[in-house]
Amino acid sequence: MSFSFERTSELLESLASLLEAREVFDKRAIESLRKDFLTLAKNIDRVKDYDEALKLKEAFKTWNEHFEQTIERLILELPYHVDAKLGDRTAGWAYDSGLWKRNREWDEYWEKKIRSGTWDLRSDAQVDLQLMGTGYQIKYWPDLTKEYAFSLFERKKKKWQGRLRRSARKAWNTLKEYEDWATDQGARQITLFRPEDYKLNIQGFQVVLKNVDDRTFTHSWNQDFMDMLDPAFKLYRQRAKQVLPLLLKSPLPFEIDFKTQLDKGGTYEGDRIVLYALSVKSPKEITKVIAHETGHHVWKTWLSSQDQKFWENAIKKDYGTIDLVRLAELWDKVSPKGLVSDISDYLKDRDPIMYLQFEALIGGFGLGLYGKGLFFYREELQELIDKGTTSYPVPKNPVTAYAAKNPEEAFCEAVGMLVAYGERAIPRLALEWLRVIFGSELKL
Ligand SMILES: [Zn+2]
Repeated sequence: MSFSFERTSELLESLASLLEAREVFDKRAIESLRKDFLTLAKNIDRVKDYDEALKLKEAFKTWNEHFEQTIERLILELPYHVDAKLGDRTAGWAYDSGLWKRNREWDEYWEKKIRSGTWDLRSDAQVDLQLMGTGYQIKYWPDLTKEYAFSLFERKKKKWQGRLRRSARKAWNTLKEYEDWATDQGARQITLFRPEDYKLNIQGFQVVLKNVDDRTFTHSWNQDFMDMLDPAFKLYRQRAKQVLPLLLKSPLPFEIDFKTQLDKGGTYEGDRIVLYALSVKSPKEITKVIAHETGHHVWKTWLSSQDQKFWENAIKKDYGTIDLVRLAELWDKVSPKGLVSDISDYLKDRDPIMYLQFEALIGGFGLGLYGKGLFFYREELQELIDKGTTSYPVPKNPVTAYAAKNPEEAFCEAVGMLVAYGERAIPRLALEWLRVIFGSELKL
């Protein structure tokens, strides 16, 4: 997916610079080591020949040195050691002067535990590859070729990966346990994530968390978003199975992006779907985004060009106009102050179609708008009317306001609404168009 082998060389450099740059133990060091480890582990299966295996070997070696130093540093920084070295110092990453209970026994306990918990990883994080051109090889194995050395590596690979996974889990769990204990003792919080936290299986869908750092889950909206994923994917599977099972055929992997602040719920990237952890009110909203983005995949890979043409024509033929003068009169009637929210709320309750048309215009979705709203304030609407624009083209049967953006988005909105909110949530006509395209695939 997003890791390429080039990343390993970059990683080598960044590890080397980290090694030099760091003087004191940093609580993030372990987390960044863990991330780098995951990157390396992912690259194991990408290695295609001896030379790449050699690069991987070097990368693991550098990582391993770094890991070893970090663990030693962590042990040195255990409070008792700090005391022994520096006297009654009230500093250090895991040290809070008022609350920390200095206790030599605890130090010894944790020193042992951290050493034994991380030992296997330290010994397993090494690439077993017969090296070419070394004295040993020339003397004892003169006819060893790169191909043969690589085939030996390949033969042992699967077993090694299994071992590596187990020992990594043990190491991260140990460090996590230490973190929890240190936190309980009143130390400043350090955050470690276990590998399982990043790669999830949610209701049978592959979900990878992106841009997670030690502050991500201190934000309640990110926590809420995480909590809603399970019910959202559950509902998606259940509803897709009911109404449009083809959505579930060879599902794409998902990424949850916790950093990129885009004003949308998701994007379709061809080989994966990215969901943005925005604040949402209910799991259903996420279900809709999942179905919408999968709709793009269906549009690009399942629909024939005739299907797409049919849909585009259907959308084009459905265009009518909104009467801006009537809208202005209505606006004045319901909101003497001319507030957008007043007219919007009024329409939402009384005229759902006009409501969506109105929202499309102010949202910049629709013919010739390209993201820029036609108007927003009552005065801006007046200016348009005064200049002679008394009506504007809008869909007669809008699926949603956003659907007015273009035919493909309208299609994805129709799929998204149908799956998340049911057939009543989309116009009768749009449902008929879907029936033409999907035929018996649509179970309604
Ligand atoms: Zn879309």
